[in-house]
Amino acid sequence: MRMVIAVDGPSGAGKSTVAKLVAAKLGIEYIDTGAMYRAVALHLLRAGTDITDAEAVLAALSALTIDLDGGRTMLNGEDVSGPIRTPEVTAFASKTSALAPVREKLVALQRRMGAEKSVILDGRDIGTNVFPDTEFKFFVTASPEVRAKRRFDEMTEKGGAPDFAEVQGAINKRDYDDMHRALNPLRQADDAALIVTDEMDAEQVAGRIVEAVVRK
Ligand code: C5P
Repeated sequence: MRMVIAVDGPSGAGKSTVAKLVAAKLGIEYIDTGAMYRAVALHLLRAGTDITDAEAVLAALSALTIDLDGGRTMLNGEDVSGPIRTPEVTAFASKTSALAPVREKLVALQRRMGAEKSVILDGRDIGTNVFPDTEFKFFVTASPEVRAKRRFDEMTEKGGAPDFAEVQGAINKRDYDDMHRALNPLRQADDAALIVTDEMDAEQVAGRIVEAVVRK
């Protein structure tokens, strides 16, 4: 049976770690839709596109291909998995993800990617907009403090020296923007199962999702 699993939620909730684990456990493909929005943001940033100019954005998007290739994010054939994770691209991604042509292009691509095989996608609008008819929807979240702490630990582990208040501020700003944009804002679908992960690790959350999927 082909299945589409939608995992939505705010930044730093651990969605991508969980979605990767679920994909491995069920032997299905993982699609990181955030990486796709980040790749577009990187492209527009590099091109110096005026994002208030709809024509310029459309032109920049017309010459753009994005592929997710075994965990790597490819932008016009270049592996941009590293560059899309900088704080600058992260902040810019939540601005450019509000643009209609960006969402139209990526949503169409995501629907094509999930059309023929079993997939798990994580993002902000998968259950509400990209695959609203799937029966497997999860909204994964945690308190703002826990999410900021996780992001802070992740950055420290990678050798950075982040400032906690700054990390928390950036996460809050991004969530606010993602929840208040006009197009496909971040919101829990009415029929999504809510998983609050403050007291859970990624394995436990993945276990909960696999159990729910297998039960159906
Ligand atoms: O999940 P991640 O933090 O990588 O996402 C980066 C940005 O991409 C988010 O802040 C959000 O603005 C955007 N995004 C989106 N819709 C999705 C996934 C991500 O708007 N389905």
